[in-house]
Amino acid sequence: MTNYIIQISDDALMEMSLAALEAYVIPQSHTNKSAKELRTELETYGLLWGHEIFLPDGNILYSVQKLTVDAMADRRTDAVWPSKGLMVIKDMITSYWPQYSFLGDFHSHPYEYYKDVEEIKGYEFSEADRKSMVENKKNDDDFRISLVMTISSLKKASNSEPKIISDNIICWTFNNYRFWLNACLVYKGYEKNDKTALLPNNSNWIIKYHNSDIDNIYLHCPYLSNPWQITRFGKKAGKGNHIAGDV
Ligand SMILES: [Zn+2]
Repeated sequence: MTNYIIQISDDALMEMSLAALEAYVIPQSHTNKSAKELRTELETYGLLWGHEIFLPDGNILYSVQKLTVDAMADRRTDAVWPSKGLMVIKDMITSYWPQYSFLGDFHSHPYEYYKDVEEIKGYEFSEADRKSMVENKKNDDDFRISLVMTISSLKKASNSEPKIISDNIICWTFNNYRFWLNACLVYKGYEKNDKTALLPNNSNWIIKYHNSDIDNIYLHCPYLSNPWQITRFGKKAGKGNHIAGDV
């Protein structure tokens, strides 16, 4: 059985955490013009870049090196709609930085309180997420993995050790903010007993995804093996306002 290892570089983990935090804590005008007030706790969206590596033991490594944030995405509290500029970004990167391959996408799930996440397993991909994965794979066969980062608040700051929820879900905490990262593999498969499945140009391929505990997908974030906090970032002051840290 092939194992799939999804490894997140320190740079990519930093970019994802910052993107999720930015949309969570910094007030932004809602894309919906009728909503005039500034909003926090919004979702965000981006694309993943890196390499697919076939390992000598037959397993496959997806090395996620970079995240590009979709700055023009329509961000809501319970959804995010990617902008139409993503194909341009893909063209730019493949033209000027061809050392990175397109691997898939990333989005965030903001929740007010960490217990809300635990109660309803808010770190899982939603039904809408799964539908969009299928569409993305249909539109672009290079789409291979999807990541969702869930972010929430803790009333009491914590620096508990990162925790593995399942092989493909890791949870960690930056003081008053708790994160979960969940990885999903998207691939073309076929129904059992379909004898035409391996024929060239077979049209019976179906798009499948898997990310549950029983599947052989392993999420690895080297940074989280031993994160060190250098300043006091992540502590909240007063009514939930973020404060900058001191050395
Ligand atoms: Zn989602």
